[in-house]
Amino acid sequence: MQLVTVLGATGSIGVNTLDVMARHPDRFRAFALTAHTRIDLLAQQCRRWQPRYAVVANHQDAQRLAESIQNGSGSPATKVLWGEEGLVEVAAHPDVGTVMAAIVGGAGLVPTMAAVHAGKRVLLANKEALVMAGALFMEGVRSCGATLLPIDSEHNAIFQCLPPDYRGDPQAAGIRRILLSASGGPFRTIELEQLPRVTPEQACAHPNWRMGRKISVDSATMMNKGLELLEACWLFGVEVQQVDVVIHAESIVHSLVEYVDGSLLAQLGNPDMRTPIAHALNWPQRLESGVTPLDLIGAGALHFSAPEPARYPCLGLAREAGEAGKDYAVALNAANEVAVAAFLDGKIGFCRIAEIVAEILHRWEASEPQDLAVVQASDARARHAALALIH
Ligand code: NAD
Ligand code: MG
Repeated sequence: MQLVTVLGATGSIGVNTLDVMARHPDRFRAFALTAHTRIDLLAQQCRRWQPRYAVVANHQDAQRLAESIQNGSGSPATKVLWGEEGLVEVAAHPDVGTVMAAIVGGAGLVPTMAAVHAGKRVLLANKEALVMAGALFMEGVRSCGATLLPIDSEHNAIFQCLPPDYRGDPQAAGIRRILLSASGGPFRTIELEQLPRVTPEQACAHPNWRMGRKISVDSATMMNKGLELLEACWLFGVEVQQVDVVIHAESIVHSLVEYVDGSLLAQLGNPDMRTPIAHALNWPQRLESGVTPLDLIGAGALHFSAPEPARYPCLGLAREAGEAGKDYAVALNAANEVAVAAFLDGKIGFCRIAEIVAEILHRWEASEPQDLAVVQASDARARHAALALIH
C-alpha cells in the first residue's frame, strides 16, 4: 500500500491523480491533500479519501475546512494544517512514501524541495520548481536518495524512451538529441496581427488538453515549452542545444529521443494526463489508468513542423536563459508568472507577457544560485521588477 501526499489536490493534475488512485484502492491511500483555494472541493475530497492531513493557505480556511469535513459524530479523521509550514510537513512526513508535486508555479518550490530532501518518491508536475532550482534540486535527489519521476507528458514520454538504466549521461547512452512535442496552443494558426487582442478566455481554450489557467496561457505563448526545455536539461543531463522543439498539433506523439544510430523512439497515446500519472505512480510496473487506448487508424495523419520564432518569442527567451545559466531561469520564471497573472487579470495584453519577460532578462544582474535562499531572493527581485513594469 502506497501512502500518497497530493500537493495541489484540487488542480487539474491533482484531480487526475486521485482519479487514477481511485481505480486501485488496494494500492494507494491518500496521506495528505492540499489546496490553496476551492476549499469546498478539498472538503469533498477529504470526506471521500479520509486523509490523515489536509493543508490550506491560512488559519481561516483551515477552520472553514475543518467545520465542513466534520460529520458531527466524533472527531474528524483529518487534521487540518495551513501555510507553507503545513505543506512542508506533509511533503516530508516520515510516514509518507510518495509525493505528487502538483502545485502551480514558484509556490511549489519549498514543499517540493522538502519532499526531495526527505528522500521521497517525487512525482514532478510542478516544473517551475525544477526550472528555478535545477542544480540544487538534482543534487538533493542524488544526495538524499529521492526517486524523481516526471509527470509532464513530454518528459514522461522521454523517460519511457530512455534505457531503463539511464544515469544522466546522454553520450554514454548514444543519445544525439531530444525532441519535445508542442501542440502550438490555441493561437498556432491565427494571424500574427490578431495576437495583441486575444483574450484570457481564448488563451485558456487549449485545443487538446484541459489544464489550469496558468499553464494554459504558458501553452499559448509557448513559455510552457521553454520551461519544459529547461526541465528536460535538468532531468536528463542534456545541454540546451541538444533539445529541439517540434510542433505536433495532434498531441499524440508526446516527445522523442534520437539515438546516434538513426533511431527515433517516441511514446504515443491519447492526450490524457492519467497516462503519465499512472506510469509514475506505479513505476516500474504498469497500471490501468482509465485512458482510452489510442486508435491509430482513427487518429489519421500526424503533422510536424518547426515553431515560428515571431509567434512564440517566449521559447527563444527560455533558451537564452538556459544558455546564460546562473539564476537567469529564476528571473524568466518569476517574470512570466507575474506577467501571466496580469494578463489573466485583464491588466496587460497577451504580447506584453513576452515583452516583460524579455525586459527583465535583459537587465538582470545575475547571481550564482548556490542555495535555496539565493533562489528565493532572485525570485522575489524578479517579481518585484516585473510588477513595477506592469504598473
Ligand atoms: P491548477 O491551477 O489546475 O492547480 C494548481 C493547484 O495548486 C491547485 O490545487 C491549487 O489550489 C494549488 N495552488 C495554487 N497556488 C498555490 C499556492 N500559492 N500555494 C499552495 N498551493 C497552491 O494547475 P495544474 O494545471 O494542475 O498544474 C499544476 C502543475 O502541473 C503546474 O506546475 C503545471 O505546469 C504542471 N503541469 C500540468 C499539466 C496539466 O495537464 N494540467 C500538465 C503538465 C504539467
Ligand atoms: Mg507538458
